[in-house]
Amino acid sequence: MDDPYVILGVSPHDSIEVIRKKYKKLALLYHPDRNSQDDRVASEEKFKQISNAYNAITGNPAADNMFFQNFTERIINKGNFFGDFLKNFDKNKFKTTLFNEMKNYKTFYENINTTEYTEDININVNIEMADIYNNVEKVIDLEIDDKCEECIINDLKICPMCDTTGIVRNKKKIVFMCADKQTIYSSAANYEPNKKRGAINIRICPKPHHEFRILNDYDLLYEIYIADDGENKISHSIIQLDGTDHLFVENPPYKAEYIICEKGLYIPHRGTRGDLVVKIIKNIYS
Ligand SMILES: [Zn+2]
Repeated sequence: MDDPYVILGVSPHDSIEVIRKKYKKLALLYHPDRNSQDDRVASEEKFKQISNAYNAITGNPAADNMFFQNFTERIINKGNFFGDFLKNFDKNKFKTTLFNEMKNYKTFYENINTTEYTEDININVNIEMADIYNNVEKVIDLEIDDKCEECIINDLKICPMCDTTGIVRNKKKIVFMCADKQTIYSSAANYEPNKKRGAINIRICPKPHHEFRILNDYDLLYEIYIADDGENKISHSIIQLDGTDHLFVENPPYKAEYIICEKGLYIPHRGTRGDLVVKIIKNIYS
């Protein structure tokens, strides 16, 4: 290799900073992208030479050498690519390529639109309000069509497991929490060949309760009927849905309703509860 200092036009007494500036200036000057097609080969050669020279002077460790090597190669290759691209540019070929690309995209989107799912399994379950309040875990037993693993593993011509249908019926346990209004198991519905599996949706239908009603999803309504004209103190024990006793005590004059915070239904993923709304109703028939 020729003297790197001569190649970069610097002196061994120059600082690294000066050498770096000179290198950058030369690198820009001889950058293959910046030179015309005719000068390309010459500029590539020169560019490599100054990169190597700079590399040799700054004495980069192996990793840096590799980086420089790759960096130099990359720039040269990029230059070649564009050079060749323009040199060999064929309008008709370009059109064909573009057309094929478009065809690929078209099939891609068609596949998305025509993906068929097996039918969703929707199950409405009637649940006691106390189970909703206490967020009880429940299990439903279902029978679901699955792909026969026996056929796949053993590559059988005749399969006793599925009568060679490729489909077996399996028992599945579906778990859900009663406070979740809806539980969705995606890709869990029946298997059918060449289709994606639909979902199993569990929806909670609260059973009516003789004392509590659901308001606004998570609040509970409780009504206290008073037998007089509303001039006596109310002392009423509300047996809540977890079995605990809440003593409701109020003096007249009464408000139309009272809010007891966080004594309503559990709000999943928020870790809080709705409110208990207590309404005072004068029993006009007494
Ligand atoms: Zn089988």
